[in-house]
Amino acid sequence: MSTAIWGESETQSDESYPLSLLNSLLQQMMEQFMAQGACLALYDENIRQMVIRRHMRAKINSPAPNSPTPAPTNIENIDTIPMNRRKAPGVANAVTSTTGRMRRLSRPLPSLEPVSTARTALFPLGEAYTYRQDLIGTAWQKNELIMLSHDEYVETFAPGGIVTSPDEGTPAFFLAIPIPEPLMLSDPVTRKQQQILGVIVLYQAHPSTGFQSSQGHEAWQWAERFGLYLQNDRLRRLNARHNDYMKRLQQISTAFPSDVILSKLVENVHQFVKAVVHVNSMLLTFYDRDTTKIYDVFAIDHGNRIEGLYERPVIALPKDRPVWWKVTQEQQRTVLLSLTQDEPELVREHEELLKGAWGDQTNEESFLLLPMKMFNRVVGSLSLTSSHPEAFSPEDILVLETMVQLITVSIENAKLYDRSRRSVKRARQREETLSVMNSALLAFSSVLILVELLHKFVETAATLVQAGLCTFFQLTSDGEELIAQAIYDTTGKWNDATQMSSREQHEDLIKMIRLPFKNSILGKLVEADTFFYLDTTLIDELAQISSEGGAIFLRETHSHKMLMIPVRYQSELVGILAVHTPRQDRVFHPEEVSTLLAISGQAASAIRNAQLFEKIRETNAELQRMDRLKDEFIVTASHELRTPLSAISGYASMLKRQSARIDSQQALRYATKISGATQQLTDLITQMTDAAKVGAIDRKLELQVGPVQVLAAAEIATTMLSVNIEQTITVQIDPNLWVQCDGLHLRQVITNLLDNAAKYSPPAGQVVLSARSTTLSQLPEGQVDYSKLVHGEDPPVVLVRVRDEGEGIPLEDQEKIFEKFVRATRSLTTPVRGSGLGLFICRRYIEAMGGKLWLEISIPGEGSVFSFYLPQIQPPVETGETRELERTNT
Ligand code: ADP
Repeated sequence: MSTAIWGESETQSDESYPLSLLNSLLQQMMEQFMAQGACLALYDENIRQMVIRRHMRAKINSPAPNSPTPAPTNIENIDTIPMNRRKAPGVANAVTSTTGRMRRLSRPLPSLEPVSTARTALFPLGEAYTYRQDLIGTAWQKNELIMLSHDEYVETFAPGGIVTSPDEGTPAFFLAIPIPEPLMLSDPVTRKQQQILGVIVLYQAHPSTGFQSSQGHEAWQWAERFGLYLQNDRLRRLNARHNDYMKRLQQISTAFPSDVILSKLVENVHQFVKAVVHVNSMLLTFYDRDTTKIYDVFAIDHGNRIEGLYERPVIALPKDRPVWWKVTQEQQRTVLLSLTQDEPELVREHEELLKGAWGDQTNEESFLLLPMKMFNRVVGSLSLTSSHPEAFSPEDILVLETMVQLITVSIENAKLYDRSRRSVKRARQREETLSVMNSALLAFSSVLILVELLHKFVETAATLVQAGLCTFFQLTSDGEELIAQAIYDTTGKWNDATQMSSREQHEDLIKMIRLPFKNSILGKLVEADTFFYLDTTLIDELAQISSEGGAIFLRETHSHKMLMIPVRYQSELVGILAVHTPRQDRVFHPEEVSTLLAISGQAASAIRNAQLFEKIRETNAELQRMDRLKDEFIVTASHELRTPLSAISGYASMLKRQSARIDSQQALRYATKISGATQQLTDLITQMTDAAKVGAIDRKLELQVGPVQVLAAAEIATTMLSVNIEQTITVQIDPNLWVQCDGLHLRQVITNLLDNAAKYSPPAGQVVLSARSTTLSQLPEGQVDYSKLVHGEDPPVVLVRVRDEGEGIPLEDQEKIFEKFVRATRSLTTPVRGSGLGLFICRRYIEAMGGKLWLEISIPGEGSVFSFYLPQIQPPVETGETRELERTNT
């Protein structure tokens, strides 16, 4: 519906008059009275004054339509007769009419022009006249024709003279005609009581022309015509308006049930009210018998809607609003006040109604309160204010009362409908929650894989409370940290598996989200309550002390409020469930929190079971692996043991059989073989014992730590090789390199690495043993022990490398060979003997001495480089004691 009909009050704009019609009437009148100018003032009920709406005059110096001569000549040529001094009935006697000559209408007037505010000083367009003011106000007051000359006009109304612009000319005679409201035959009103709709003023320019009192009758006829036209138009518009009201009322009354949304309905009410009356502010108040509270649900303060009031109404108790209570509940009446004209005492009494959710309305002109009646009780009120005096006429109030009656029924229905819809919705939600819970519980009891279980858990929790993001953090076994294990994210940012090359990678990424627990705010809050919220301040505080992953999670999820639910199995904390929606300040409903607590309780025992199951599975796998290794070891060991044993038994039986025949030389050779094989057996048994010793994690190695010269240790190691080697071993070590370690173990390690280099290389291969000084941070990334890099320190280390040109180790075996009894697959099928224990023992020795040992590089067919480092120390000052030390070391 256009605002022209429903929006503005129509009486304010010129369009509300049949202007073209009035124009032509004025023109005809000018012709008949041979007037040089005519203006029309109409009553404006808003300001209660006569306002000039039309003003036109003959163009000075412009030729008349049918005449070649200029206008002034034209006017002068008009045949006039002297004006009768006799007073015509209805002609004002307050002003003496002057002598004039009546002119006969002989030809049309010169061309006319509309006069604007800017172009006239006399009766300018838009000028308003109060009762009795000037000629117009006087004609209005007297309801009589007024004829007067220029001098009389000046004498009565313009003592300072008439100021006109040069192109206007000064009128010589004036005729003012009031336009009374047409009377119906049945109207008992006398002329004095008649309402005046407007005033017409005609003026003559030439002093020799004038109006005749006998023209009074004609003038009244014209005024009557104007009156009829205006009245007719007013009735037409009134009719149109009423038709619109009816249509609108009908719309409102049919709003239910198709338009049950209360907020829409009140919006419609506002539009309707605006169409009926001039209104600045509006307030809709409800009274709810169930809660016995008063609710302001819709307010417009001077055209501005108070946003959010419908969702969060202003609530008051009856005792807080005694005046409202009295007029609506006790008196049940409509209140109409004229705030500037009524008794100030009366206005003051109602002041409470003029303030509140709709701002301060005390400076308005009119106030109207309509009670909303439903049977014999009042369920609310509609209050209106306007800056117009008398904005609410009795007819308007009737229309508004009908509307209020209609909307009261609609609103009450809508409220009922809303209530039942809400309870149906709640029941449906409860049903959905139960079914989600059921399916989750089923899943919890059947899924034993921890990852799957946790994913089901976070997904269920998020679905149950329609949260955007749900994360499960598991407490580490030492209770220090919480590590994310599963995320359910409706935005897809944290669970977009397509961007990850594998699911494992995704899981690894999630596990980088770590939050500090012990000694952090989380630790404290978990102790304090069954659930809690992290607000932006706490989130920020936590992010500052979190790992990088944790900080990113906390900051980039843009959470304003995060609900944290500790997940406990019996009294032991398993982890925390974090539920929130990014960029929202959502506080969960108590029912939602209880649902989450219930599901978390169920999940806790399932998680504990899955964790136990996982542990059992891992242990089983380890046991199986150990079993396989044991089998392999038995095969290897029996082979390793059998070889020297067969040598011993072979040579021993030869000694026995040939003892009578062989010489002492021969016997010595056999005995040497037997002793060599025995040594081999002893070595193997020592290695096995060592491996058993270092294998037990909780057993500390007994170390004889002291300064050791790397070169000396290396030289001795080269002489202790267990095999007769054909390869050349080159040693490149600076004698100034000293380390802090157990000399015996260091030699064992070097011997072992050299043994391997020789064992797995062709006879012509080169073996290089080198050592150099470096610092911890310069080592390859995986080998750096960051715990020793604290406080900006970067300790010096000696890096020892053994390079060979042997068969190399396939990639898949490169890490495994450091395990107990593990040999590269290829070594199992070659005659080269070995137990798979050497590297395992070496790594443990080096680690026990504060270093690390690793395979730096190995390319099958080209060779390998094994490296290790140990903490470097300054060479001791060379004294006799040092030399002694070196000697004992070797
Ligand atoms: P082993 O007694 O079998 O040599 P180790 O623990 O010393 O036991 O080595 C484990 C396995 O690693 C070896 O069986 C061999 O397969 C592989 N290996 C060790 N050093 C080398 C090397 N320098 N070149 C090739 N393979 C090697």
